[in-house]
Amino acid sequence: KFRGHLFYADGEDDDSSRSSRHKKYQMKEQLLSALNDNRLVLFYQPILDLNTNTISHCECLVRLLDNEGQFIAPAKFLGIASESGLLPKLDYSVIEKAMRQQYLWEESGITTGLSINITAPTLEQADFKERIEELIHLTGANPHRLIFEIVETDAISNLHVTHDLLNHFKDIGAKIAFDDFGIGFTSFEYVRDLPVDYIKIDQSFIRFIHEREQDQVLVKSMVEMSHSLGKKVIVEGVENKAALKIVKDMGVEYVQGYYVCRPMPISALDLSLHLRH
Ligand code: C2E
Ligand code: MG
Ligand code: MG
Ligand code: MG
Repeated sequence: KFRGHLFYADGEDDDSSRSSRHKKYQMKEQLLSALNDNRLVLFYQPILDLNTNTISHCECLVRLLDNEGQFIAPAKFLGIASESGLLPKLDYSVIEKAMRQQYLWEESGITTGLSINITAPTLEQADFKERIEELIHLTGANPHRLIFEIVETDAISNLHVTHDLLNHFKDIGAKIAFDDFGIGFTSFEYVRDLPVDYIKIDQSFIRFIHEREQDQVLVKSMVEMSHSLGKKVIVEGVENKAALKIVKDMGVEYVQGYYVCRPMPISALDLSLHLRH
């Protein structure tokens, strides 16, 4: 009886889990074919420099173009990419696209940088450094205009490897951001010891900051800590003017969020965007 219950709880044999396995299988097939037929598309979300009121960077956010011409959000396929060992393939594909775009901008005198998400399995590939150098060579990108975003928990799972790789990024002139900061197993030791340039405070602290005093307290202390350690702060999830004002008053350097601009396909992107006061 007990075993039967466990069996059910594992979801091995009921219809809903069979159909969810089937959905997963379909998503994996779709992701594989998208990787092969170049149907991963980058959207770009501006990051506003509050000191200059200009777009200093754009974050590259991947979308999967499905058979019906719809864009699928990364939340729908990153888990499957991870389970299937496809994250490095996906990350390299995104890095290459981003670098090609940066090269085009550089060629037309546009100094806006690009911020690229990378995951732990990619960082941990033995030839990661070589692949990055190859891609820079292949695309002609200027690494000085690139930020690599690493999720704090990913980085921390392998501190030694991470330290070495992050230093390599420094050597080629790229910058590093800790993404989704504050929701992982944050230890100040990591922030102190890893050569990170930017702390990107997770949007869960920002979206309701104008109505939650506790979020204000937490963000203020994250900002102060980052600044004391010589790191700049990017906040994501700024959805309205009230939230913008609060983080601006705290001395945050960069903001990203729907209030500034949603992620856009390249054709719709306006790099001359700024905020009116
Ligand atoms: P992230 O790196 O933290 O990216 C920010 C996410 O917040 C994006 O979701 C963006 O669309 C969303 N966002 C931006 N501003 C706002 C706002 O004001 N309000 C709200 N509610 N959301 C906002 P998206 O594009 O769905 O990406 C989700 C996550 O998927 C990303 O989180 C990142 O972890 C991952 N991801 C996206 N693109 C890539 C990629 O090319 N490679 C890898 N490895 N991961 C990626
Ligand atoms: Mg990110
Ligand atoms: Mg983030
Ligand atoms: Mg996130």
